Amino acid sequence: MRVAVIGGGIAGFCAASALGRIGADVEIFERGPAIREIGAGLSLWPNATYALRELGLLEPCVRASSRVRNIRLTDPAGREWASIRISGGETPALCLDRPALLSVLLAAVDPRRIHVGEGCKGISLESRDGCKPRVHFEGGRTQAFDAVIGADGLDSAVRRFVTGRVERPVYRGYMIWRGVADGIPPLYAEGNITEAWGRGERFGIMPIGNGKVCWYAARNQPDTAAPQSKAEILEHFRGWHPPIAEVIAATPESAIVRTPALDRPTTWTWARGPVVLIGDAVHPMTPNLGQGTCQAVEDALLLSLLLAGGGPIEKAFHRVERLRRARAAAIVLGARWIGGFAQSEGWAARLARNSFPRALLSSAIEGAFRAVHDYRTGACLA
Ligand SMILES: Cc1cc2nc3c(=O)[nH]c(=O)nc-3n(C[C@H](O)[C@H](O)[C@H](O)COP(=O)(O)OP(=O)(O)OC[C@H]3O[C@@H](n4cnc5c(N)ncnc54)[C@H](O)[C@@H]3O)c2cc1C
Repeated sequence: MRVAVIGGGIAGFCAASALGRIGADVEIFERGPAIREIGAGLSLWPNATYALRELGLLEPCVRASSRVRNIRLTDPAGREWASIRISGGETPALCLDRPALLSVLLAAVDPRRIHVGEGCKGISLESRDGCKPRVHFEGGRTQAFDAVIGADGLDSAVRRFVTGRVERPVYRGYMIWRGVADGIPPLYAEGNITEAWGRGERFGIMPIGNGKVCWYAARNQPDTAAPQSKAEILEHFRGWHPPIAEVIAATPESAIVRTPALDRPTTWTWARGPVVLIGDAVHPMTPNLGQGTCQAVEDALLLSLLLAGGGPIEKAFHRVERLRRARAAAIVLGARWIGGFAQSEGWAARLARNSFPRALLSSAIEGAFRAVHDYRTGACLA
């Protein structure tokens, strides 16, 4: 089976590695001039580490990560509102630097099958080829495959072919800044993530292994245009609990990543014939549950389990759609809702948030997390 994976991001590499394990002949086509990831942290919750274990990729991820056991939600001064234990399931919750995860995935794929500077312009299905998908590249070349996996992210060209629609991503009203700083203060070395909530703004810190922490800040802004310098971020979070000022100060200005919070309306259409979407191409989400990559790993594992069973590719892809879409849509909506709640500036929402009994809030969030984290991809096939 000859498979084209469009997009050399985390979803594309997960899928290539998963399909390589079942003997597919996979090629990855990346539009950019190189395979790279931004330096910023990423959480992999137990639902993703379970899938990574099934794909034989967990051990190197563990070596490159910090294990996390607890999330502390606080006010800007560091007073605790909720302490959320991450359930100790059969696989751990991990945080790591994105380039470290990409290195693990790259090592699992034959470098001769990775093509950079090869953007996909569109897909067509040619009936004279027995309905094989053809990939049309931006350079003018066309190539036929048995199957195409669209892992080309938020502005996916493959998605346009699959859904037949052109939709714009939706800005959810806040910008996010991220950075990585050296040195792990003791609280984080013990496996804690902290997230402080203010009025229309948040600041989080998590350990990511190799003696580093990642920080992220979110702030309501009417549009995505306003640039923000490191000095302005420092000024804005002045007076928030330590070590917030220290981690911002320890990050070089050029290494601060600025991202708008974006997602898309949910689509129920994931597949068209032998072409299927995975990752942000089909379920881009705001980062509030830390599940975007986790869902891409689940997509990749299920894809490989269904294709390994043999049978028509179209049928396997439509089963991926049927088995994945409700869960992914619920997580996209959950992340959007939590973002709106956490970023709220209105007094009523803040009063509800700030006056909620601590134990009740902690156990409500733990329960919601468990529903997402305890999922085992492939269990539905047993
Ligand atoms: C602030 C923030 C924090 C996050 N934190 C977490 C977290 O803690 N945990 C978590 O699980 N997720 C997190 N996420 C989500 C996660 O980053 C994404 O879900 C994940 O990176 C998506 O991977 P992907 O491969 O689908 O897409 P991408 O990373 O966007 O990769 C797509 C690739 O396709 C290429 N491409 C695009 N168009 C074409 C084309 N036409 N032809 C060929 N190649 C193309 C691109 O160049 C790119 O390399 C976070 C996201 C944000 C914004």
